Amino acid sequence: MQEQKKLKLYDVIVLGGGASGLMFLNHISKKKNTALVETNERVAKKLKISGGGKCNLTNTQVAVENFDGDATLVSQALHSFSQEKLLNFLDRNRVPLELRKNRYYFCENSSDEIIDVLKKGMKRVDVHLNHAITSVEKEGNNFIVQTDKSTLYAKKIVVATGGKSFKSLGASEIGVDIAKSFDMQVKEFTPALVGLTLQKEQSWMRELSGLSAYVHIKVGERTLKEEMLFAHKGISGPAVLSASLYWKKGTLSIDFLPTKNILSLTNNSKKLVSSVMPLAKRLSKALLNAVDVKDKECKKLSKEEKEKLQLLHHYSFAPAGNFGFTKAEVSRGGVLASELNVKTLESQKVSGLYFIGEVVDVTGELGGYNFQWAFSSAYLCAKSMK
Ligand SMILES: Cc1cc2nc3c(=O)[nH]c(=O)nc-3n(C[C@H](O)[C@H](O)[C@H](O)COP(=O)(O)OP(=O)(O)OC[C@H]3O[C@@H](n4cnc5c(N)ncnc54)[C@H](O)[C@@H]3O)c2cc1C
Repeated sequence: MQEQKKLKLYDVIVLGGGASGLMFLNHISKKKNTALVETNERVAKKLKISGGGKCNLTNTQVAVENFDGDATLVSQALHSFSQEKLLNFLDRNRVPLELRKNRYYFCENSSDEIIDVLKKGMKRVDVHLNHAITSVEKEGNNFIVQTDKSTLYAKKIVVATGGKSFKSLGASEIGVDIAKSFDMQVKEFTPALVGLTLQKEQSWMRELSGLSAYVHIKVGERTLKEEMLFAHKGISGPAVLSASLYWKKGTLSIDFLPTKNILSLTNNSKKLVSSVMPLAKRLSKALLNAVDVKDKECKKLSKEEKEKLQLLHHYSFAPAGNFGFTKAEVSRGGVLASELNVKTLESQKVSGLYFIGEVVDVTGELGGYNFQWAFSSAYLCAKSMK
């Protein structure tokens, strides 16, 4: 009689070979019999192109306030793997870093420097590349992972399949689909860290395509202080990308001269208003037009015109929308924190099912916060797994 082949039961299967999945593999006990499933022909495709190919890995200042998500969960993850611990990990593994603008930590030469380190976690792991996960089910105490090419079995599953943006790099909604199939609550993904499109009234901004300026953008309670870029499709650049995280609908307000006071600048001068504004000439002129003030000698400004000029410190408007998932650096939304044990990232409803990284409803501001979250949540999960 032909002997039946015994099915392999893994201790853990990690779904998704991106930032969080690979960091998890670096910290899970080597005694565990582990597998990784990844749809692409190689791991870490998003890491590879992130931060212009150099990955902004973290920031000098990392606090709960830099994240849109459940404060207790974020705080637990940051506590278990802070930016200092991440910097130590990078140092121990000889990843050379470059500090930009005194704030942002990037790989010095290429994202390959962090990818090569993270890939060390794949030693002794069964790696299934080119396998697209289609579903996860639970039978008794064990999970069955269905891919387009195979069926795999495990005692525990770590969903690290990321968000929905940049489909071209393998992104999918499988993580939230898996959660939903287990009756877990999710917030649908929406594009975040993304440029904003404009209404007709702000079409003048499009004509400034290519120019950038340091601004303060106020959205709700937050003020984002960074460069803004005028783009052909709308507005972009670091300040706008971060603002997009907090903008849902309604207005935002831009201070185009955050370090100056327009009334002091224009006080009694014989110079033209546009020439005392410390901005590119083309931008100054367009701004004057937008607030309906003629470019003239500062001395000749009327009281009413001076009032209008003050609008440059709080130019308010409602964006039309955003550039969408093809351009968004991250997806806001995902598995609700209330569904997870904040100390382990295990599902409260389904024992043995864990979620880490962008698939969880936590999104960081621009500046290395999303990798910090991916790494911190992965570490917390790996270290808590018995
Ligand atoms: C252009 C760009 C630039 C960015 N720059 C930065 C930056 O400089 N700093 C920063 O902090 N963040 C940056 N981000 C965001 C950052 O890349 C992500 O937040 C981070 O990679 C999330 O890690 P993750 O492990 O959750 O998901 P990912 O790294 O996206 O990994 C998920 C993995 O799951 C795989 N997968 C998905 N669906 C399936 C399926 N059905 N079957 C099998 N495998 C599947 C994917 O192929 C992928 O490999 C950037 C993002 C983009 C798009």
